[in-house]
Amino acid sequence: MQCPHCSVELQEHEASACLDAWVAVAIMSGVETMNFQEKSECYWRFETPEGKVMLVDSKIRFLPRWSPSTRIADAWEVLDKFYRFEVGTDGMIYLCDIAHEPKKKYLASAETAPLAICRAALKSKG
Ligand SMILES: [Zn+2]
Repeated sequence: MQCPHCSVELQEHEASACLDAWVAVAIMSGVETMNFQEKSECYWRFETPEGKVMLVDSKIRFLPRWSPSTRIADAWEVLDKFYRFEVGTDGMIYLCDIAHEPKKKYLASAETAPLAICRAALKSKG
């Protein structure tokens, strides 16, 4: 699976605004209501069907940022969309095992828990 914005493979994709924007659409059903991209600068605004506004950006620091790939509180909202999940670590790597329904499961790994959660969630949509 490749990122719709930068074409990097999911398992290689770093925690970034780009990955957060991918999760906002694919997992949270966010609809893009604003978008600005120029060189390394990017800014997105999404709204979910429940009316939640999510701002995903790389430079506009004064705005509250929704970043499930770096903030565990935001990653938790992603896990809430799943039927079952497990997050664990061996002290080096985090693993996230996620499922939509009883017999399916999707496993992903990363250096941090939020990133492992985002990768597993996106993998489940692939
Ligand atoms: Zn990307």
